[in-house]
Amino acid sequence: MRKVLCSPGSYIQQEGAMGQLADEYAAIGSKGAHIIVDPMIDKLYHHQIVSSFDAKGTPYQLMEFGGECSSEEVNRHREHIGSNDVVIGIGGGKTLDTAKAVAFYANLPVMIVPTAASSDAPCSRLSVLYRPDGVFDKYLPLPANPDVVLMDTDIITKAPVRFLVSGLGDAFATYYEAAACVRSNAVTMTGGHATNAAFTLAKLCHDTLLEDGVKAVAAAKAGVRTAALENIIEANTLLSGLGFESSGLAAAHAIHDGMTALEGTHKMLHGEKVAFGTLAQFVLEDRSLDETAEVYDFFRQVGLPTSLEEIGIGDATDEDLLRVGELACGPDETMGNMPFEVTPVDVANALRAADEVGKNL
Ligand SMILES: [Zn+2]
Repeated sequence: MRKVLCSPGSYIQQEGAMGQLADEYAAIGSKGAHIIVDPMIDKLYHHQIVSSFDAKGTPYQLMEFGGECSSEEVNRHREHIGSNDVVIGIGGGKTLDTAKAVAFYANLPVMIVPTAASSDAPCSRLSVLYRPDGVFDKYLPLPANPDVVLMDTDIITKAPVRFLVSGLGDAFATYYEAAACVRSNAVTMTGGHATNAAFTLAKLCHDTLLEDGVKAVAAAKAGVRTAALENIIEANTLLSGLGFESSGLAAAHAIHDGMTALEGTHKMLHGEKVAFGTLAQFVLEDRSLDETAEVYDFFRQVGLPTSLEEIGIGDATDEDLLRVGELACGPDETMGNMPFEVTPVDVANALRAADEVGKNL
């Protein structure tokens, strides 16, 4: 049986890491860095971003991210790369996906520098491209994971707390989706089956969230970096990243994708929608009362949604939920990784039940 584990070349997590960017760059390049930065992040952290390059005399050029991860934006950066030999992306998901795509087309190494722990995408070998008007365009599967993922824990501590909480929601799904894939012997995005290593990381991710999630959110609200917050930054980014990519996705993410069809969810972050998708997956799996109570408790304590209302679709009709189910059970969706058959009606019923269960626990 073919089993595959994928990971970034290096994962580095450290306070003040942004101020040493040129040192990390020197491990993978020499001619200069093409830096793609979120304009807001550039405004806040310009000095940290460029100071080590200036101090060492390392060449670099800094270009602001244009706001959408589109083919047009990717081409704009490619045209300006010049002789630079590494692409560095600094900011949120779309900035990072742009950097990955630019590096792929230019055949250069890429360094990913997330400024929040809001999802498990940074470590993965995937970019999501949108059209300039923001509509989904296509997935761009990449042949390799990022060469370096660099997390500055000081900067991430100062990011909006909602981003960290959304990251908890994305990470909480990892173990349950991995467990479904292991039970169904699914082939993951890596083109192979899950290794014991990846599944163990998914389990460690889950245990870390329950142990340190509430403490980490409290620390982030106070704007202070603690051991619990550092553990959650690692769980949201590295453990969940390796766990989902190399163990597989299942119902929670398929339901997330289906929910994006309902206008009301558009204000919600990825991990917030995934969280409610996980509650629906619990219903599909008929998980025990103890486990169910545990997850609702945890979500309430950290501030993740536990009702349709809290994900912006409190007024969803049965037809709306069926539409979500139809999309979630589509041929390209990961619902097929569940160890039993799931129909659109099952999904609609699970969403309604997950909402109701929350009122009774
Ligand atoms: Zn996700």
